[in-house]
Amino acid sequence: MAYFGTEEISTLPGELDLVTFGQRLRHLRRSRGMTLSDLGERVGRAPSQLSLLENGKREPKLSLLTSLAKALEVSVEELLSRQPPSRRAQLEIAVEEAQRDPVYQTLNLPHLKVGKRVPNDVLEHIVGLYDELRRRSVKPTATPEEARRANADLRRQMRERDNYFPAIEKAAQETLDAVGYRGGALSQGLILAMVSHYGFTLRYVQDLPRSVRSLTDTRNRRLYLKRESLGMHTPRTILLQTLGHFVLGHAQPRDFADFLRQRVEANYFAAAVLIPEAAAVPFLTDAKQARDLSVEDLRDVYAVSYEMAAHRFTNLATRHLDLVCHFIRNDETGIIYKAYQNDGLVFPTDDTGAIEGQRMCRYWSGRQVFASPDRYSIYYQYTDKPNGTHWCVAHVDPSRERNFAITLGVPYKESRWFRGRETTHRTKSQCPGGECCVRPPSDLASRWEGNVWPSARAHSHVLAALPAGPFPGVDETDVYTFLERHEMR
Ligand SMILES: [Zn+2]
Repeated sequence: MAYFGTEEISTLPGELDLVTFGQRLRHLRRSRGMTLSDLGERVGRAPSQLSLLENGKREPKLSLLTSLAKALEVSVEELLSRQPPSRRAQLEIAVEEAQRDPVYQTLNLPHLKVGKRVPNDVLEHIVGLYDELRRRSVKPTATPEEARRANADLRRQMRERDNYFPAIEKAAQETLDAVGYRGGALSQGLILAMVSHYGFTLRYVQDLPRSVRSLTDTRNRRLYLKRESLGMHTPRTILLQTLGHFVLGHAQPRDFADFLRQRVEANYFAAAVLIPEAAAVPFLTDAKQARDLSVEDLRDVYAVSYEMAAHRFTNLATRHLDLVCHFIRNDETGIIYKAYQNDGLVFPTDDTGAIEGQRMCRYWSGRQVFASPDRYSIYYQYTDKPNGTHWCVAHVDPSRERNFAITLGVPYKESRWFRGRETTHRTKSQCPGGECCVRPPSDLASRWEGNVWPSARAHSHVLAALPAGPFPGVDETDVYTFLERHEMR
């Protein structure tokens, strides 16, 4: 103990068997009922780094060994013992862990105390059955209602934290530091350096399954990716999102809510790496002082999509710029795909509190931009709403194959910090309450109600639950206006 405990010893005994060490480390951690994150927190390391150790992919530094031993309440010698944990010991822990799993608990079995007399093969059977139970219970999909509920819950958590997640910012900063990032847009070389820093290799393939953005072979630590962009996601965002799951120590999602949370965190990680807090905050602070804040500058400096720049702005705005704001992504028919606010904006919601899939007010900038003479230029607007006026900037990104409007908005008094505040566009909205635009104007309705059979366009997005109505998903006002326009032709 004293040998390893002394400060000046900085190297490990040469013959440390990394595989055995990893097994022992995992065994000790699990026997103490700790997750990778629990242990990571105690020793001040990312769960992903500990995972590398447990998989025998990385050699531990002495300082880390000391803190691991302390956290696990063993001596360093014991941690470094050449003896792999026995199968019996592994089985006992596996059965204990299984019984703590809610899936196992739904079986309502009395707790099994694994005494010395329970034979190994019985334990093997229990563990084998549990693994299969676990596999069958994994639900990567959810009913639309579960999905909407999970989404609403997640959005509430984001709002409570002003959409700022310090732990993920820290993980992103550590990743940037590890590859020597110096500022500006992130180069491809640095991204590749990050991949190898976490022990992965990258393979570009053409035959990636269509249902995935990327695939990771965790055994061989290989990341498979296609070269082309997939919808909103460029290869480097997909790559960083994928890496994010490992850096943040994500385990296989327990349910849809867990899946969703992980996806949001991985996306956050990718954005925090591409638009680093340490560099972006001074940049935005200067822009605010110059009363020239703009999403497009953030996009240009960090070479990201307009959507990512706008969304990243929401992460940093409240914490660092003292601004509340909102963010919306909607399609041309006004259906909301993604939304966030901590500035009091009232979104349309369904019974479960979900916003995704709802149709937003036709007088909001995210819909008005589609009607502006040049829909691809940056569009500014003031909107008078029941609880106040917002200033918003909306943009339809021309580089995307499908037209989505991205809106970033702030309360009226904060518009003074932004480029585009002198706009003369102004609309009034009563949504989501009152007679604004949810129902068609009564004169139109009285002429056309009952005389039309629209065939709705199918929405494939799982979260785009269709707004209720006689023809779900169909905007009656649009239909009636169309009829009105064409009747006389
Ligand atoms: Zn409206």
